[in-house]
Amino acid sequence: MAVQAFTSSRVVLPGKMGAFAVFVEGQRIVEVVPRNQIPRSVPVTDLGDLAILPGLVDSHIHINEPGRTEWEGFRTATRAAAAGGYTTLVDMPLNCVPATTSPEALDAKRKAAQGQCQVDWAAWGGLVPENLERIAPLASAGVFGFKCFLIHPGIDEFTMINESHLRTALPNLKKTGLPLLVHAELPGPIDSATEELMQADWRVYGTYLNSQPDESELSAIELLIRLCEESGCRIHIVHLSTSKALARLQDAKRRGLAITVETCPHYLHLCSDEISNGATLHKCAPPIRSRENREALWQGLREGIIDFVATDHSPCPPAMKQMERGDFRSAWGGIPSVSVALSLMWTEASRRGFSLVDMVRWMAEGPAQLAGLEERKGRLASGFDADMVVFDPEAEWTVTPADLHYRHAISPYLGERLTGKVLMTFLRGECVYKQGSFLAESRGREYTRKPFVTDQN
Ligand SMILES: [Zn+2]
Repeated sequence: MAVQAFTSSRVVLPGKMGAFAVFVEGQRIVEVVPRNQIPRSVPVTDLGDLAILPGLVDSHIHINEPGRTEWEGFRTATRAAAAGGYTTLVDMPLNCVPATTSPEALDAKRKAAQGQCQVDWAAWGGLVPENLERIAPLASAGVFGFKCFLIHPGIDEFTMINESHLRTALPNLKKTGLPLLVHAELPGPIDSATEELMQADWRVYGTYLNSQPDESELSAIELLIRLCEESGCRIHIVHLSTSKALARLQDAKRRGLAITVETCPHYLHLCSDEISNGATLHKCAPPIRSRENREALWQGLREGIIDFVATDHSPCPPAMKQMERGDFRSAWGGIPSVSVALSLMWTEASRRGFSLVDMVRWMAEGPAQLAGLEERKGRLASGFDADMVVFDPEAEWTVTPADLHYRHAISPYLGERLTGKVLMTFLRGECVYKQGSFLAESRGREYTRKPFVTDQN
């Protein structure tokens, strides 16, 4: 197969950016070389000043199919991803029915995905009280790690676990070498705060925020740091919202514990000071906190205490957001963002002096590493999948429903003016998205790991 070169003055490689050419043969990157070393015989697509980034990896997305395809599904989620510059999604095990907690459920998901995907995907497995002793079969079936909740997850098919469940599961998990992703909130502080706010006005965002105290995240994270130290398991904190946990996490990392942390674009872009009463599109858990907290999260990213950024794209039908009632207590919590996440992040990051190299570290390399995809995804380098994003870092644009592409075009970001736009997305060498249009449809496939070996009988 013929080699072709994609070249630009802003190609983002691991740790640096510059004038390079990316040579692609078939589905893989053969080599990346300085632009002045392109052989004459190779056909060149010169992208001028536009940036070429590796395809982004989202390690936290709720695709919801099978079972809740009316919320979101493989076709719509993966199209939205392609439009947002994501080429690999790792699907959370809940909100779909069945939840991905057994090899049979993973099979059902694989069947549902078939022929529908615009980008590649992989699956996380769920850790629930029913499968604490049956981690190995699901690991062998091909999940890249496990996700659990220390608080009620908002739906009934996925059960939360507690410290004693964790103590049972962690030795089994350790044998797999796979990470445990944890929704780190403990119910105690939330239950008592909510109880005290029974008579408050739940149309006011501050009521919801007060019902979700930092203490809930803090106590969960302290527990997880202890268990990480005791078990030696890889533990990953999903969607960190409170900056008050950063000092403890920094200390745990300094002590060499295998703990990693993500936060999300909504915690880095929005803040409670600007959320209007009744604006339930902004509800998520843990909640969006103060402006001061947001700035401290940026500092956490700057210092590397927060490892990367994932979307927690979690859509639902508009009726579940109860926008007319505007009741933060009963509205569904979840913010979809996969199609706009890169622009949201770049709008905020460029203003704070970060570079596209930082974006790629947070939105491609970091998530790929957590999920164990780092040999093929998340970087422009020899031997990697030819997943590429053509991004215009200077473009200014306004978010409209037509830009969202997921199942229901609702978003707290509609009407916002953002900086930086995805123009094209390439999946394994082929252009699958170009300026609003989807090409080469349904090329996405499940990313599978090499055969899995465990010493567990
Ligand atoms: Zn989530």
